[in-house]
Amino acid sequence: KEKNSHEPEFIQAVTEVLESLRPVIEKEEEKYRRDAILERMTEPDRIISFRVPWVDDKGQAQVNRGFRVQFNNAIGPYKGGLRLHPSVNQSIIKFLGFEQCFKNSLTGLPIGGGKGGSDFDPKGKSDREIMAFCKSFITELYKYIGADEDVPAGDIGVGAREIGYMYGQYKRITGLYEGVLTGKGLSYGGSLARKEATGYGLVYITDEMLRANGKSLEGKTVVVSGSGNVAIYAIEKAIALGAKPVTACDSTGWVYDPDGIDVAVLQDVKEVKRARLTEYVKARPNAEYHEGKGVWSVKCDIALPCATQNELDLEDAKALVANGCFAVCEGANMPTTLEATEYLQKNGVYFLPGKAANAGGVATSALEMSQNSERLSWTFEEVDAKLKNIMVNIFRNLDAAAKAYGKEGDYVAGANIAGFIKVCDAMLAHGIV
Ligand code: NDP
Repeated sequence: KEKNSHEPEFIQAVTEVLESLRPVIEKEEEKYRRDAILERMTEPDRIISFRVPWVDDKGQAQVNRGFRVQFNNAIGPYKGGLRLHPSVNQSIIKFLGFEQCFKNSLTGLPIGGGKGGSDFDPKGKSDREIMAFCKSFITELYKYIGADEDVPAGDIGVGAREIGYMYGQYKRITGLYEGVLTGKGLSYGGSLARKEATGYGLVYITDEMLRANGKSLEGKTVVVSGSGNVAIYAIEKAIALGAKPVTACDSTGWVYDPDGIDVAVLQDVKEVKRARLTEYVKARPNAEYHEGKGVWSVKCDIALPCATQNELDLEDAKALVANGCFAVCEGANMPTTLEATEYLQKNGVYFLPGKAANAGGVATSALEMSQNSERLSWTFEEVDAKLKNIMVNIFRNLDAAAKAYGKEGDYVAGANIAGFIKVCDAMLAHGIV
């Protein structure tokens, strides 16, 4: 904690994981201590921090800070997204990279953990400015990544357009046509169902958890935050499985649609027009628009936070419980604060942490890597079926791990324990490196 006192998000993520690993560590304390497993696991393999210079539309040079944290490659090449958002700093990228190691382990696929990004703000930038930034970013980062070394993907602010510009520049510099990035466009090596994967996967695992507890999504009211890649496809799949999502939000406001969110309208506003949610209510007269934050005050059975970190705090958790919400499954990374998580769990709310619940995105990225290595493309149905299978297995494994260590029903502990054991076994097998 002292060494990283200037990195609150990183400390928050590590604290949550270490707390829940207590029963595992206590069982074989000597072994873990001798090999300094926890010390090695909480120290990234390396952090790359670099200048990203680019020229805006007025001819003015701009400088942003770029990062890549290669956290742990014990079980496979580093893998994790790139985030473009003004809030990005080393603490946020480290927390995301740390969480990614456990998430990737949970997928059952051979991928290590990493994360990257920049404090560049894509909002309001022209297409040319986005291209200029992406090309400059990869002109430095290309030295450290590769199909068998480190395979970045999208995250907040990085979708198919940005991945396209980065891939083009990587290919131009290296001359290699390889699966160095995932989330690519379908015409140059992308995977069908990758766009939908995180949101669909979130709903598949939520469904599996509810079934295991004798419940289902059918007829349930769902509150969703966010209106980006994860939120849109979580809403789409929740509707397909019989639930009724009634909210969405962005950084400035939120909508409540009593008739259920219309996915086509939401996609048009966010994916096509790239506009604010005020546009949503223009097409849906029964819906309400509110400025600021507020989705957690809406009465619901299930909550799916799909926007960003720490968006659901203790007060929100209290409002959810008071309104009868019985399940919270995280589509975003660490959207629920530690106090809120504890409150929800203490009050009997089924709680699935992001590292399990949103692992469908990275799992499908790993399936994209497999397709690139084979130089083949699988059908949507093939990828979707594999995704569903992976999500069901993640739930079963974390549920079993929780039970094995006396933590039945504590899915946070189960996810951390199941993710940890595999990475730890590989690290022990490799000796002190
Ligand atoms: P997008 O950029 O597509 O969407 C993010 C959404 O959240 C946008 O609607 C954005 O609003 C909103 N948002 C961002 N910050 C805030 C805030 N402070 N308050 C309210 N709303 C906010 O990102 P993704 O959907 O890809 O990612 C969402 C989360 O899911 C992140 O935590 C990400 O790390 C995680 N995740 C994503 C995966 C993926 O495959 N995409 C995989 C696993 C995890 P606005 O439109 O105003 O920017």
